[in-house]
Amino acid sequence: MKYKANWAWVDGAWAANVLLESDTQGFWKRIQPNAAPAETSGAEQLGCVVPGLVNAHSHAFQRAIAGLTEHSSQSGDDFWSWRDRMYRVALRVGPDHLEAIATWLYSEMLQSGYTHVCEFHYLHRNPDGQNYADAAEMTWALVRAAEKVGIGLTMLPTLYMNQGFGQPGLNSMQRRFASTPESILGIQQSVIEYANASGKQACLTSGVAIHSLRAVAEIEILNLTSSSGTAPVHIHVAEQTKEVADCVAHTGLRPVEWLLAHANMDARWNLVHATHTSVPEIRGIQVQQASVVLCPTTEANLGDGLFDLPEGLLQKMRWSIGTDSHVNRNWAEELRLLEYGCRLSLRKRNVSLLHLNGLGSTGQVLFENSVQGGSQAAGLPLSGIALGQRADLVEIDLDSHALLGVPVERLMDAMIFSTPSFEVRNLFVAGKKCIQQKMEWKSAFLKTMLEL
Ligand SMILES: [Zn+2]
Repeated sequence: MKYKANWAWVDGAWAANVLLESDTQGFWKRIQPNAAPAETSGAEQLGCVVPGLVNAHSHAFQRAIAGLTEHSSQSGDDFWSWRDRMYRVALRVGPDHLEAIATWLYSEMLQSGYTHVCEFHYLHRNPDGQNYADAAEMTWALVRAAEKVGIGLTMLPTLYMNQGFGQPGLNSMQRRFASTPESILGIQQSVIEYANASGKQACLTSGVAIHSLRAVAEIEILNLTSSSGTAPVHIHVAEQTKEVADCVAHTGLRPVEWLLAHANMDARWNLVHATHTSVPEIRGIQVQQASVVLCPTTEANLGDGLFDLPEGLLQKMRWSIGTDSHVNRNWAEELRLLEYGCRLSLRKRNVSLLHLNGLGSTGQVLFENSVQGGSQAAGLPLSGIALGQRADLVEIDLDSHALLGVPVERLMDAMIFSTPSFEVRNLFVAGKKCIQQKMEWKSAFLKTMLEL
Protein backbone atom coordinates (compact mmCIF):
# COMPACT_ATOMS: atom_id res chain seq x y z
CA MET A 1 0.00 0.00 0.00
CA LYS A 2 1.09 3.54 -0.72
CA TYR A 3 -0.03 6.62 1.23
CA LYS A 4 0.80 10.31 1.21
CA ALA A 5 0.24 12.08 4.52
CA ASN A 6 0.25 15.87 4.88
CA TRP A 7 1.66 15.34 8.36
CA ALA A 8 3.02 12.15 9.93
CA TRP A 9 4.51 11.45 13.38
CA VAL A 10 7.97 10.08 12.47
CA ASP A 11 10.87 9.68 14.96
CA GLY A 12 9.00 11.53 17.68
CA ALA A 13 8.10 14.65 15.68
CA TRP A 14 5.81 15.87 12.90
CA ALA A 15 7.12 15.48 9.34
CA ALA A 16 5.45 17.08 6.32
CA ASN A 17 4.37 15.56 2.98
CA VAL A 18 5.38 12.04 3.89
CA LEU A 19 5.30 9.21 1.39
CA LEU A 20 4.62 5.90 3.16
CA GLU A 21 4.79 2.49 1.51
CA SER A 22 4.13 -0.91 3.05
CA ASP A 23 5.20 -4.32 1.71
CA THR A 24 2.90 -7.27 1.04
CA GLN A 25 3.49 -8.62 4.55
CA GLY A 26 2.20 -5.39 6.12
CA PHE A 27 5.47 -3.71 7.20
CA TRP A 28 6.91 -0.32 6.26
CA LYS A 29 9.38 -0.50 3.39
CA ARG A 30 9.61 3.21 2.53
CA ILE A 31 9.14 6.39 4.57
CA GLN A 32 10.03 9.63 2.87
CA PRO A 33 9.29 13.07 4.33
CA ASN A 34 9.11 16.06 1.97
CA ALA A 35 8.22 13.81 -0.96
CA ALA A 36 7.92 15.47 -4.38
CA PRO A 37 4.41 15.48 -5.94
CA ALA A 38 5.57 13.15 -8.75
CA GLU A 39 6.59 10.49 -6.19
CA THR A 40 3.21 10.44 -4.48
CA SER A 41 1.03 9.89 -7.54
CA GLY A 42 -1.35 6.98 -7.00
CA ALA A 43 -0.94 7.15 -3.21
CA GLU A 44 -3.96 7.28 -0.89
CA GLN A 45 -4.20 10.86 0.39
CA LEU A 46 -4.28 11.26 4.16
CA GLY A 47 -4.25 14.32 6.41
CA CYS A 48 -2.48 13.95 9.77
CA VAL A 49 -1.35 10.47 10.83
CA VAL A 50 0.23 8.94 13.94
CA PRO A 51 1.34 5.38 14.64
CA GLY A 52 -1.17 3.03 16.26
CA LEU A 53 -0.70 2.46 19.98
CA VAL A 54 -0.51 -0.88 21.75
CA ASN A 55 -3.05 -1.41 24.49
CA ALA A 56 -0.67 -3.46 26.63
CA HIS A 57 -3.10 -4.79 29.24
CA SER A 58 -6.64 -6.04 28.70
CA HIS A 59 -9.05 -8.41 30.43
CA ALA A 60 -11.74 -8.23 27.74
CA PHE A 61 -14.58 -9.75 29.80
CA GLN A 62 -14.31 -6.93 32.35
CA ARG A 63 -15.73 -4.54 29.72
CA ALA A 64 -19.10 -6.03 30.73
CA ILE A 65 -18.91 -4.40 34.20
CA ALA A 66 -17.58 -0.97 33.19
CA GLY A 67 -19.78 1.56 34.99
CA LEU A 68 -21.58 -1.12 37.01
CA THR A 69 -19.37 -1.16 40.10
CA GLU A 70 -19.69 2.47 41.12
CA HIS A 71 -22.75 1.80 43.26
CA SER A 72 -22.15 0.28 46.67
CA SER A 73 -24.53 -1.22 49.21
CA GLN A 74 -21.84 -1.73 51.83
CA SER A 75 -19.26 0.53 53.40
CA GLY A 76 -15.54 0.03 52.86
CA ASP A 77 -15.63 -0.75 49.15
CA ASP A 78 -12.10 -1.44 47.91
CA PHE A 79 -10.11 -3.44 45.37
CA TRP A 80 -10.97 -6.73 47.06
CA SER A 81 -14.74 -6.12 47.19
CA TRP A 82 -14.56 -4.98 43.53
CA ARG A 83 -12.77 -8.25 42.77
CA ASP A 84 -15.63 -10.30 44.31
CA ARG A 85 -18.11 -8.53 42.02
CA MET A 86 -15.84 -9.05 39.01
CA TYR A 87 -15.60 -12.78 39.86
CA ARG A 88 -19.40 -13.12 39.81
CA VAL A 89 -19.47 -11.97 36.17
CA ALA A 90 -16.39 -14.06 35.32
CA LEU A 91 -18.32 -17.16 36.39
CA ARG A 92 -21.11 -16.50 33.87
CA VAL A 93 -19.21 -15.56 30.69
CA GLY A 94 -19.29 -18.29 28.02
CA PRO A 95 -17.28 -18.36 24.77
CA ASP A 96 -20.05 -16.66 22.76
CA HIS A 97 -20.42 -13.96 25.41
CA LEU A 98 -16.70 -13.39 25.46
CA GLU A 99 -16.53 -13.11 21.68
CA ALA A 100 -19.35 -10.54 21.63
CA ILE A 101 -17.87 -8.47 24.47
CA ALA A 102 -14.36 -8.55 22.98
CA THR A 103 -15.57 -7.72 19.46
CA TRP A 104 -17.32 -4.59 20.70
CA LEU A 105 -14.44 -3.69 23.02
CA TYR A 106 -11.81 -4.09 20.30
CA SER A 107 -13.87 -1.95 17.92
CA GLU A 108 -13.94 0.75 20.63
CA MET A 109 -10.18 0.48 20.95
CA LEU A 110 -9.76 1.02 17.21
CA GLN A 111 -11.98 4.08 17.38
CA SER A 112 -9.59 5.63 19.89
CA GLY A 113 -6.43 4.77 17.93
CA TYR A 114 -5.22 1.54 19.49
CA THR A 115 -4.17 -0.89 16.74
CA HIS A 116 -2.98 -3.78 18.93
CA VAL A 117 -4.04 -5.32 22.22
CA CYS A 118 -2.30 -7.64 24.72
CA GLU A 119 -4.94 -9.93 26.21
CA PHE A 120 -4.06 -11.09 29.74
CA HIS A 121 -6.37 -14.08 29.67
CA TYR A 122 -7.11 -16.30 32.66
CA LEU A 123 -10.71 -17.39 32.05
CA HIS A 124 -9.71 -20.84 30.80
CA ARG A 125 -12.22 -23.41 32.09
CA ASN A 126 -15.98 -23.73 31.86
CA PRO A 127 -18.20 -22.29 34.61
CA ASP A 128 -18.09 -25.63 36.48
CA GLY A 129 -14.30 -25.49 36.60
CA GLN A 130 -13.89 -28.32 34.07
CA ASN A 131 -11.75 -28.10 30.95
CA TYR A 132 -13.55 -27.39 27.69
CA ALA A 133 -13.06 -30.13 25.06
CA ASP A 134 -10.49 -27.75 23.57
CA ALA A 135 -8.50 -26.20 26.44
CA ALA A 136 -8.15 -23.06 24.30
CA GLU A 137 -11.91 -22.63 23.71
CA MET A 138 -12.09 -19.24 25.46
CA THR A 139 -8.80 -18.17 23.84
CA TRP A 140 -10.25 -18.75 20.37
CA ALA A 141 -13.23 -16.52 21.21
CA LEU A 142 -10.76 -13.65 21.73
CA VAL A 143 -8.81 -14.52 18.57
CA ARG A 144 -12.04 -14.51 16.51
CA ALA A 145 -13.01 -11.12 17.96
CA ALA A 146 -9.66 -9.58 17.06
CA GLU A 147 -9.75 -11.03 13.55
CA LYS A 148 -13.28 -9.73 13.00
CA VAL A 149 -12.44 -6.13 13.77
CA GLY A 150 -8.88 -6.25 12.41
CA ILE A 151 -6.97 -5.25 15.56
CA GLY A 152 -3.61 -6.95 16.23
CA LEU A 153 -3.50 -9.34 19.19
CA THR A 154 -0.83 -10.67 21.54
CA MET A 155 -2.52 -13.48 23.43
CA LEU A 156 -1.21 -13.96 26.97
CA PRO A 157 -2.63 -17.20 28.41
CA THR A 158 -2.24 -16.67 32.14
CA LEU A 159 -1.05 -19.07 34.81
CA TYR A 160 -3.17 -19.01 37.97
CA MET A 161 -2.65 -21.73 40.60
CA ASN A 162 -2.98 -20.36 44.15
CA GLN A 163 -5.45 -18.13 45.98
CA GLY A 164 -2.78 -16.29 47.93
CA PHE A 165 0.71 -16.35 49.44
CA GLY A 166 1.03 -19.64 51.33
CA GLN A 167 -2.48 -20.65 50.28
CA PRO A 168 -2.08 -23.29 47.57
CA GLY A 169 -5.01 -24.11 45.29
CA LEU A 170 -7.90 -21.93 44.15
CA ASN A 171 -11.16 -21.08 45.88
CA SER A 172 -14.46 -21.90 44.24
CA MET A 173 -14.85 -18.37 42.79
CA GLN A 174 -11.52 -18.89 40.99
CA ARG A 175 -12.27 -22.35 39.54
CA ARG A 176 -12.28 -21.17 35.93
CA PHE A 177 -8.70 -19.88 36.21
CA ALA A 178 -7.16 -23.30 37.04
CA SER A 179 -4.08 -23.90 34.92
CA THR A 180 -0.58 -25.38 34.93
CA PRO A 181 2.61 -24.31 33.16
CA GLU A 182 1.97 -27.15 30.69
CA SER A 183 -1.62 -26.05 29.91
CA ILE A 184 -0.48 -22.43 29.41
CA LEU A 185 2.38 -23.45 27.12
CA GLY A 186 -0.08 -25.64 25.19
CA ILE A 187 -2.38 -22.67 24.55
CA GLN A 188 0.58 -20.47 23.59
CA GLN A 189 1.76 -23.10 21.11
CA SER A 190 -1.74 -23.52 19.59
CA VAL A 191 -2.07 -19.78 18.95
CA ILE A 192 1.40 -19.50 17.39
CA GLU A 193 0.79 -22.54 15.17
CA TYR A 194 -2.56 -21.12 14.06
CA ALA A 195 -1.00 -17.71 13.30
CA ASN A 196 1.77 -19.29 11.24
CA ALA A 197 -0.52 -21.70 9.38
CA SER A 198 -2.96 -18.93 8.47
CA GLY A 199 -0.28 -16.39 7.52
CA LYS A 200 -1.41 -14.00 10.28
CA GLN A 201 1.83 -13.79 12.24
CA ALA A 202 2.17 -10.03 11.59
CA CYS A 203 -0.99 -9.43 13.63
CA LEU A 204 -1.29 -12.42 15.95
CA THR A 205 1.19 -13.91 18.39
CA SER A 206 1.27 -15.34 21.88
CA GLY A 207 3.41 -14.84 24.95
CA VAL A 208 2.55 -16.00 28.47
CA ALA A 209 1.43 -14.35 31.69
CA ILE A 210 1.73 -15.08 35.38
CA HIS A 211 -1.30 -13.77 37.21
CA SER A 212 0.72 -12.48 40.19
CA LEU A 213 3.23 -13.57 42.79
CA ARG A 214 0.37 -14.43 45.13
CA ALA A 215 -1.14 -16.77 42.49
CA VAL A 216 1.96 -18.67 41.29
CA ALA A 217 4.86 -20.22 43.23
CA GLU A 218 8.51 -19.61 42.33
CA ILE A 219 9.15 -23.03 40.81
CA GLU A 220 6.15 -22.71 38.49
CA ILE A 221 7.19 -19.19 37.42
CA LEU A 222 10.58 -20.56 36.41
CA ASN A 223 9.03 -23.62 34.73
CA LEU A 224 6.80 -21.41 32.61
CA THR A 225 9.22 -18.65 31.67
CA SER A 226 12.12 -20.98 30.87
CA SER A 227 9.96 -22.79 28.30
CA SER A 228 8.07 -19.94 26.63
CA GLY A 229 10.85 -18.92 24.22
CA THR A 230 11.55 -15.30 23.38
CA ALA A 231 7.90 -14.28 23.65
CA PRO A 232 6.68 -11.59 26.08
CA VAL A 233 6.08 -12.45 29.74
CA HIS A 234 3.55 -10.34 31.65
CA ILE A 235 2.77 -10.31 35.38
CA HIS A 236 0.56 -8.23 37.70
CA VAL A 237 2.79 -6.88 40.44
CA ALA A 238 2.70 -4.43 43.38
CA GLU A 239 -0.74 -3.06 42.50
CA GLN A 240 -2.07 -3.00 46.05
CA THR A 241 -0.34 -2.14 49.34
CA LYS A 242 -1.87 -5.29 50.90
CA GLU A 243 -0.19 -7.39 48.22
CA VAL A 244 3.16 -5.71 48.99
CA ALA A 245 2.72 -6.35 52.72
CA ASP A 246 1.70 -10.00 52.14
CA CYS A 247 4.71 -10.53 49.86
CA VAL A 248 7.08 -9.05 52.46
CA ALA A 249 5.53 -11.21 55.18
CA HIS A 250 5.82 -14.36 53.06
CA THR A 251 9.17 -13.86 51.30
CA GLY A 252 10.97 -11.07 53.16
CA LEU A 253 11.05 -9.04 49.94
CA ARG A 254 8.78 -6.53 48.25
CA PRO A 255 7.18 -7.92 45.04
CA VAL A 256 9.44 -6.13 42.55
CA GLU A 257 12.47 -6.84 44.76
CA TRP A 258 11.53 -10.51 44.64
CA LEU A 259 11.27 -10.49 40.83
CA LEU A 260 14.61 -8.71 40.49
CA ALA A 261 16.27 -11.31 42.73
CA HIS A 262 14.59 -14.53 41.57
CA ALA A 263 12.84 -14.30 38.20
CA ASN A 264 15.74 -13.98 35.71
CA MET A 265 14.00 -10.97 34.17
CA ASP A 266 15.03 -9.54 30.81
CA ALA A 267 13.50 -7.59 27.93
CA ARG A 268 10.69 -10.16 27.61
CA TRP A 269 9.23 -9.03 30.93
CA ASN A 270 6.38 -6.57 31.40
CA LEU A 271 5.39 -5.70 34.97
CA VAL A 272 1.74 -4.67 35.02
CA HIS A 273 0.95 -1.77 37.42
CA ALA A 274 4.14 -1.85 39.56
CA THR A 275 2.31 0.93 41.40
CA HIS A 276 4.12 0.56 44.72
CA THR A 277 7.68 0.46 43.44
CA SER A 278 10.62 2.16 45.14
CA VAL A 279 13.39 4.18 43.47
CA PRO A 280 15.93 1.29 43.72
CA GLU A 281 13.30 -1.09 42.30
CA ILE A 282 12.69 1.24 39.33
CA ARG A 283 16.43 1.32 38.75
CA GLY A 284 16.51 -2.50 38.90
CA ILE A 285 13.70 -2.79 36.36
CA GLN A 286 15.63 -0.54 33.98
CA VAL A 287 18.90 -2.44 34.48
CA GLN A 288 17.20 -5.78 33.74
CA GLN A 289 15.54 -4.18 30.67
CA ALA A 290 12.06 -5.11 31.84
CA SER A 291 9.14 -2.77 31.15
CA VAL A 292 6.20 -1.52 33.24
CA VAL A 293 2.60 -1.49 31.97
CA LEU A 294 0.71 1.44 33.50
CA CYS A 295 -3.10 1.41 33.55
CA PRO A 296 -3.94 4.86 34.95
CA THR A 297 -7.75 4.89 34.70
CA THR A 298 -8.15 1.40 36.18
CA GLU A 299 -5.59 2.17 38.89
CA ALA A 300 -7.55 5.33 39.73
CA ASN A 301 -10.88 3.50 39.60
CA LEU A 302 -9.65 0.79 41.97
CA GLY A 303 -7.86 3.20 44.31
CA ASP A 304 -4.51 1.49 43.74
CA GLY A 305 -2.16 4.46 44.03
CA LEU A 306 0.24 6.37 41.76
CA PHE A 307 3.32 5.07 40.00
CA ASP A 308 6.35 7.38 40.32
CA LEU A 309 6.39 8.45 36.66
CA PRO A 310 9.02 11.22 37.00
CA GLU A 311 11.45 8.71 38.53
CA GLY A 312 10.67 6.15 35.79
CA LEU A 313 11.40 8.76 33.12
CA LEU A 314 14.57 9.88 34.89
CA GLN A 315 15.81 6.29 34.99
CA LYS A 316 14.86 5.77 31.31
CA MET A 317 12.70 2.84 32.39
CA ARG A 318 10.58 1.42 29.56
CA TRP A 319 6.82 1.62 29.99
CA SER A 320 3.57 1.18 28.07
CA ILE A 321 -0.11 1.77 28.81
CA GLY A 322 -3.12 -0.51 29.09
CA THR A 323 -6.82 -0.16 29.79
CA ASP A 324 -7.04 -3.26 32.01
CA SER A 325 -10.66 -3.24 33.30
CA HIS A 326 -11.83 -0.96 30.45
CA VAL A 327 -13.54 1.75 32.48
CA ASN A 328 -11.96 3.82 29.69
CA ARG A 329 -10.97 2.76 26.16
CA ASN A 330 -9.18 5.91 25.03
CA TRP A 331 -5.39 6.19 25.11
CA ALA A 332 -5.31 9.97 25.34
CA GLU A 333 -7.27 9.77 28.58
CA GLU A 334 -4.83 7.21 30.01
CA LEU A 335 -1.86 9.47 29.28
CA ARG A 336 -3.65 12.59 30.53
CA LEU A 337 -4.53 10.95 33.84
CA LEU A 338 -1.01 9.59 34.20
CA GLU A 339 0.39 13.11 33.97
CA TYR A 340 -2.40 14.76 35.99
CA GLY A 341 -2.11 12.26 38.86
CA CYS A 342 1.52 13.25 39.30
CA ARG A 343 0.74 16.97 38.90
CA LEU A 344 -1.86 16.76 41.68
CA SER A 345 0.50 14.82 43.91
CA LEU A 346 3.60 16.97 43.29
CA ARG A 347 1.76 20.29 42.79
CA LYS A 348 3.83 20.93 39.68
CA ARG A 349 3.05 21.23 35.96
CA ASN A 350 4.47 19.17 33.07
CA VAL A 351 5.98 16.55 35.40
CA SER A 352 6.90 14.32 32.44
CA LEU A 353 9.50 16.95 31.54
CA LEU A 354 11.21 17.08 34.94
CA HIS A 355 13.94 14.73 33.71
CA LEU A 356 14.52 17.16 30.80
CA ASN A 357 14.94 20.20 33.07
CA GLY A 358 11.31 21.06 32.38
CA LEU A 359 11.88 21.68 28.67
CA GLY A 360 10.04 20.27 25.67
CA SER A 361 6.62 18.79 24.89
CA THR A 362 4.85 16.70 27.52
CA GLY A 363 2.65 15.11 24.85
CA GLN A 364 5.69 14.01 22.88
CA VAL A 365 7.33 12.38 25.92
CA LEU A 366 4.15 10.54 26.92
CA PHE A 367 3.27 9.36 23.42
CA GLU A 368 6.77 8.29 22.37
CA ASN A 369 7.37 6.29 25.55
CA SER A 370 4.01 4.53 25.14
CA VAL A 371 4.79 3.62 21.52
CA GLN A 372 8.24 2.19 22.30
CA GLY A 373 7.09 0.34 25.43
CA GLY A 374 4.09 -1.04 23.57
CA SER A 375 6.32 -2.85 21.12
CA GLN A 376 8.08 -4.67 23.99
CA ALA A 377 4.74 -5.58 25.57
CA ALA A 378 3.38 -6.99 22.30
CA GLY A 379 6.54 -8.81 21.21
CA LEU A 380 6.10 -7.47 17.67
CA PRO A 381 7.70 -4.65 15.63
CA LEU A 382 5.31 -1.88 16.63
CA SER A 383 7.76 0.94 17.36
CA GLY A 384 6.05 3.59 15.27
CA ILE A 385 6.29 4.76 11.67
CA ALA A 386 9.75 3.42 10.84
CA LEU A 387 11.28 0.96 8.37
CA GLY A 388 10.52 -2.67 9.20
CA GLN A 389 7.80 -1.80 11.74
CA ARG A 390 4.22 -2.96 11.17
CA ALA A 391 2.34 -0.58 8.90
CA ASP A 392 -0.21 0.72 11.41
CA LEU A 393 -1.58 4.22 10.87
CA VAL A 394 -4.19 6.34 12.61
CA GLU A 395 -5.51 9.36 10.72
CA ILE A 396 -6.56 12.10 13.15
CA ASP A 397 -9.57 14.27 12.28
CA LEU A 398 -8.22 17.82 12.43
CA ASP A 399 -11.81 19.08 12.57
CA SER A 400 -12.14 17.55 16.05
CA HIS A 401 -13.12 20.24 18.57
CA ALA A 402 -10.03 19.50 20.65
CA LEU A 403 -7.72 20.37 17.77
CA LEU A 404 -9.39 23.41 16.18
CA GLY A 405 -6.91 26.21 15.61
CA VAL A 406 -3.97 24.32 17.15
CA PRO A 407 -0.68 24.77 15.25
CA VAL A 408 0.86 21.53 14.05
CA GLU A 409 3.82 21.70 16.44
CA ARG A 410 1.39 21.59 19.40
CA LEU A 411 -0.96 18.94 17.99
CA MET A 412 0.35 16.03 20.11
CA ASP A 413 -0.06 18.07 23.29
CA ALA A 414 -3.59 19.05 22.25
CA MET A 415 -4.46 15.43 21.36
CA ILE A 416 -3.75 14.46 24.97
CA PHE A 417 -4.60 17.57 26.99
CA SER A 418 -7.59 19.10 25.18
CA THR A 419 -10.95 17.35 25.63
CA PRO A 420 -13.35 15.96 24.49
CA SER A 421 -10.95 13.68 22.73
CA PHE A 422 -9.96 13.99 19.07
CA GLU A 423 -11.68 11.72 16.55
CA VAL A 424 -10.13 9.11 14.31
CA ARG A 425 -10.89 9.46 10.61
CA ASN A 426 -9.19 6.35 9.20
CA LEU A 427 -7.22 3.51 10.65
CA PHE A 428 -4.90 0.92 9.11
CA VAL A 429 -3.42 -2.23 10.68
CA ALA A 430 -0.60 -3.97 8.81
CA GLY A 431 -1.45 -1.85 5.76
CA LYS A 432 -5.16 -2.82 5.76
CA LYS A 433 -7.96 -0.34 6.39
CA CYS A 434 -10.19 -1.30 9.34
CA ILE A 435 -13.89 -0.74 9.72
CA GLN A 436 -14.21 0.84 13.14
CA GLN A 437 -17.74 -0.16 14.02
CA LYS A 438 -20.64 -2.34 12.88
CA MET A 439 -24.21 -2.32 14.17
CA GLU A 440 -24.21 -6.13 14.49
CA TRP A 441 -21.24 -5.91 16.92
CA LYS A 442 -23.15 -3.45 19.06
CA SER A 443 -26.30 -5.61 19.00
CA ALA A 444 -24.37 -8.73 20.04
CA PHE A 445 -22.77 -6.78 22.89
CA LEU A 446 -26.15 -5.47 24.10
CA LYS A 447 -27.65 -8.97 23.96
CA THR A 448 -24.73 -10.31 26.01
CA MET A 449 -25.12 -7.57 28.61
CA LEU A 450 -28.75 -8.61 29.07
CA GLU A 451 -27.81 -12.27 29.46
CA LEU A 452 -25.04 -11.76 32.01
ZN1 LIG B 1 -5.06 -6.71 35.08
